[in-house]
Amino acid sequence: MIFRLGLDDTDSPEGMCTTYLASVLSDKLRSEGITVKELLLVRLNPNVKFKTRGNAAVCLICEGDLDCAFDTACIMVEKYADFGCGNTNPGVVAVAEDARPGAGFYLRALRDFCTIDGTVGMLDKIPADKVRYRGWKNKRGLIGASASVAAELGDCSDKCADDCTYELLVYRDPEDKGMRYVDRESLFEAEEKTYPHTWDSVDTVNNAVVCVPHTPDPVIYGIRGESPEWLQKADSYIISQMPERSSLFRTNQGTDAHLTDADAGDIEDGKSYRISGKVFSSPESGPGGHVSFMLEGMDGSPVRCMAYEPTKNFRNIIRALIPGDLVRVCGSFKGGSINLEKIEVTETALLTEEKPPVCVCGKRMTSAGSGKGYKCRKCSEKSMVPEITVTERNLSPGWYEVPPVARRHLSKPLIRGKFQVFKSNQIYR
Ligand code: ATP
Repeated sequence: MIFRLGLDDTDSPEGMCTTYLASVLSDKLRSEGITVKELLLVRLNPNVKFKTRGNAAVCLICEGDLDCAFDTACIMVEKYADFGCGNTNPGVVAVAEDARPGAGFYLRALRDFCTIDGTVGMLDKIPADKVRYRGWKNKRGLIGASASVAAELGDCSDKCADDCTYELLVYRDPEDKGMRYVDRESLFEAEEKTYPHTWDSVDTVNNAVVCVPHTPDPVIYGIRGESPEWLQKADSYIISQMPERSSLFRTNQGTDAHLTDADAGDIEDGKSYRISGKVFSSPESGPGGHVSFMLEGMDGSPVRCMAYEPTKNFRNIIRALIPGDLVRVCGSFKGGSINLEKIEVTETALLTEEKPPVCVCGKRMTSAGSGKGYKCRKCSEKSMVPEITVTERNLSPGWYEVPPVARRHLSKPLIRGKFQVFKSNQIYR
């Protein structure tokens, strides 16, 4: 029988990682005669407050004995999950391929909020011989586990979610909480040799390493890219401490699957959007280096857009906006503002400057007082018409994005758009 095995919520800020558990579990299942065809790393709504880090769930696509796999997964969760953490509430779901929850459940977990009761209700509607599930503590992990078995990555009826990328995750022993060793130069070389087919291993503009976490989890580094082949190639350049293991995941990372198109008046807190509109206030710099402006949506509703300090050089783009620019903004609506992930400047407004006109006598006039036009101090000539000069803008129409150091897992790097079509699993150059 072909079935999917979903896991979520096994880690804590002190350690572990659900992807590591999936990697160990896949070896264990294989040793029990179960074929593990593929591992999926499924990112869900990045605004969920219970998340430990990046709101990831994992799914193993398997063939074999569903009951055996489910029992093994439960034993492994009990062995590895960080039950001591109050916010760790694991969930495991095993479901036959022909009885999986619909993609609608995945899309809700990706773009909206789900409840534990609603998830259990949905699982209970699946014929009992086709599903096994178990939640620990408050069982919240069942939400992500169910979404991961419902996920359609690169094969989704929703056009915006019909896409996938890959990540190669390289692990150390989970007991090892020391400094990681990854040769910095080798990461830059891997990026140079494989970009744009891999991305976000390093941030060349900010001269920073991006793919090595600083948290006490088992991940040494993760390479993201468009195909398993490109990930292997990038990995061949990387020099690091001896890994304990590695696993390849197909994923919705880097696809923008979390975004939906909306009018500014319809947006809700905790969801992520693409909104078209017009800049109607000059950008302002706030405390901590954040830059914000007000957008007037196509429906006339206002919404504040924010580029936070960690978005670094991206803020220069936002500072260069002026009222009247037509834009499309992408990001999550949180705490009353859109946290910008990328922006398309669709049309730039004219930046003009008004000066008093030059008189027929050759001298520049001066203001004759508020609303009274201009007057020449030399020959007393008058004019109501100012001289208008158009100043060149330091911003061109086009897409702009936050740098790799500030990119969210689900955000699609602009470079991908140049190589990719939305078609099941097909990515071409
Ligand atoms: P881990 O590596 O353990 O998966 P994480 O950062 O991905 O870490 P979790 O510890 O899994 O975060 O916590 C996220 C919790 O939120 C999980 O219990 C998951 O089931 C739940 N969850 C995920 N998406 C949603 C959603 N859209 N609505 C409600 N709960 C959600």
